[in-house]
Amino acid sequence: MTAATTHARFLIVGPQGSGKGTQGVVVASAFGIPQVATGDIFRANVAGGTELGKRVQAIIEAGDLVPDELTSELVRDRLSQPDAASGFLLDGYPRNRGQVADLDAFLGSRGEQLDAVIELAVPRAESIARLRQRAIEQGRTDDTEEVISNRLAIYERETAPILDDYRARDLVVRIDGVGSLDEVTARIFEALAVRGFAAAHPGTPATA
Ligand code: ADP
Repeated sequence: MTAATTHARFLIVGPQGSGKGTQGVVVASAFGIPQVATGDIFRANVAGGTELGKRVQAIIEAGDLVPDELTSELVRDRLSQPDAASGFLLDGYPRNRGQVADLDAFLGSRGEQLDAVIELAVPRAESIARLRQRAIEQGRTDDTEEVISNRLAIYERETAPILDDYRARDLVVRIDGVGSLDEVTARIFEALAVRGFAAAHPGTPATA
């Protein structure tokens, strides 16, 4: 490992249906860092019937955003666990400017900052087509037509602007998200390598 890879604090951002969840798992495993996906954490809590799950269930089913305070606290707790000490891959957080400020404050208090923001760029029509397919295959309760368009609208209104902020900090690596899973994975590893982040196990298959 080179000095530059002693820590890897990444964020992956992309519209619903961009494949960020799938790619996130591959990248995290290749770098040996935990993938912290807020949507997965919320869904696990809903499925498990926890107090948190009860608080967020209706919000998630409508495709709305869980309040920042609650989400940021959840992420701070997760990132405080020992396995996230030298790196993590955030997926789905931050997704608005308030959450960016919360994350900056938290990382700043630890003398840390994000190292790279992976933007998975996928045209809207492609994104919608993939979500329709996923709805048929997986039947996620928030994958109905109406909820999908709400989630995409929130993405465009609240999440896309945070990419401008991260671009101004020169953190964004923009990846063309159209192609096979393996092709997109290869693009991500290549772009991260250019920035000095070489994965220990980049061969991890996308199907893992
Ligand atoms: P997607 O990005 O495809 O909508 P996710 O799995 O990332 O799916 O998130 C599912 C849901 O969980 C969101 O629609 C939202 O209700 C909630 N959620 C996830 N991350 C956040 C976040 N950072 N802030 C607020 N709500 C969130």
